[in-house]
Amino acid sequence: KCAIDPLAMVTDACVSYGTINKLNDEVYTLLQSITQETDFFSYYRLNLFNKECPFWSDANSMCGNIACSVNTIESEEDIPLTWRAEELSKLEGPKAKHPPRKVQAERPKERPLQGTLGEGVGESCVVEYDDECDERDFCVPEDEGSAGKGDYVSLVDNPERFTGYSGEGAHQVWDAIYRENCFMKHDAEELAGQQSLNAPLGGGGLQAFSDFRNVLQKESARLDGLPLDNECLEKRVFHRLISGMHASISTHLCWDYLNQTTGNWQPNMQCFKDRLHEHPERISNMYFNYALVSRAVAKLRKHLQNYTFCTSDPTQQLDTKERVNELTEILSRPPQIFDENLMFQDPSADGLKEDFRNRFRNVSRLMDCVGCDKCRLWGKLQVNGYGTALKVLFEYDETKNGENPPLRRTELVSLINTLGRISHSIAAARSFEEAIEAGNDNA
Ligand code: FAD
Repeated sequence: KCAIDPLAMVTDACVSYGTINKLNDEVYTLLQSITQETDFFSYYRLNLFNKECPFWSDANSMCGNIACSVNTIESEEDIPLTWRAEELSKLEGPKAKHPPRKVQAERPKERPLQGTLGEGVGESCVVEYDDECDERDFCVPEDEGSAGKGDYVSLVDNPERFTGYSGEGAHQVWDAIYRENCFMKHDAEELAGQQSLNAPLGGGGLQAFSDFRNVLQKESARLDGLPLDNECLEKRVFHRLISGMHASISTHLCWDYLNQTTGNWQPNMQCFKDRLHEHPERISNMYFNYALVSRAVAKLRKHLQNYTFCTSDPTQQLDTKERVNELTEILSRPPQIFDENLMFQDPSADGLKEDFRNRFRNVSRLMDCVGCDKCRLWGKLQVNGYGTALKVLFEYDETKNGENPPLRRTELVSLINTLGRISHSIAAARSFEEAIEAGNDNA
């Protein structure tokens, strides 16, 4: 059985579920320890509350459940020393390559460059101006480092799980995300009478979305179920990426579900059956994402060997580095399970990569339309993680040192956490499937 290949549609990376399961068994505990136990990877700074949905008014689709809320870190004292504003301002200084000269010249006076990088101060210890976009990014950057704009969040204290966020608001976001896959589906666009998200959506309203959704559902089934000659590889990859992310989120909410009768958080078998088991292509897309993201992490092996995982505790800093090096070493072992070199090769597909990148950036902007804080946090983190994986796969040359695009701390944190999430989804899905196979599926 080919995990990456439902009905032989994507022939670039055909490995079995078994190969990925075996790899996941090897890295699962290590990955969870990196994401749950190290300061570097368990705190994330992002702009969670201050951005409005750029495409429609989301005032009516906010989730009021307590499970939707996020505990941000209000007191500086609860943030690891290294990232406190006071410490950061000491370290703020020009970096070798970033920000680029042009941006430095345009930097507003209230944010002057100050200080110099001390000996042995790693990149990740320096304030990062994440609002300064690199043209090679697949995501709209979060605002880490921009004074007053971001919030620190402990990912460990705010686990991704069932929140109760659902209904039109949630569907509207998913619909818009899948709609970004319409590279050449002019027929579908015409039917829905909608503009592309490249321009903000007008007041088409929910009816248009609902019509459009029907088209998309057919389209999605067609993409998942039938081989199509005229569907290029890149579009299928885009669809699988989104669907795999959606499947991973669904697996987590089914795994960590609130039983409203007992008040306990526990796996919900029916939820898994309805959302995943009955749609094997969604599970396959999750495996596809595992292959894609783990290949991106493996590609960073050399880069991360000399990386300073800045935390205030030198012992933990070293320990984090050792764990990450072990992870990249395991992921770099043959067989290589994803071959990015097959994409964007066809000369007739000029502009396709740019199109792909712009559409992914729109998916990233759509995260500000998610009306549940916890879902928005994890949605933003994972979209940033996939965006980083795409940047590493398509813009990064592992054999070169100086010319690669800068990798921000937020990007690295989101990349590793995203792999941690898919790894957890794969383990959870296996556990559900084993219970179904053993006939223990009534719980
Ligand atoms: P939805 O999951 O909303 O799916 C809508 C439609 O998309 C389905 O009817 C189906 O046709 C199609 N579809 C579903 N899955 C796939 C797939 N994998 N591939 C292709 N097509 C598919 N809820 C939580 O409880 N916790 C969270 O952390 C959380 N995070 C979220 C993050 C984001 C970015 C968004 C947009 C929503 C999030 N939600 C979360 C809400 C959750 O994803 C569902 O929208 C909600 O549970 C309602 O589910 P549903 O069964 O109506 O179908």
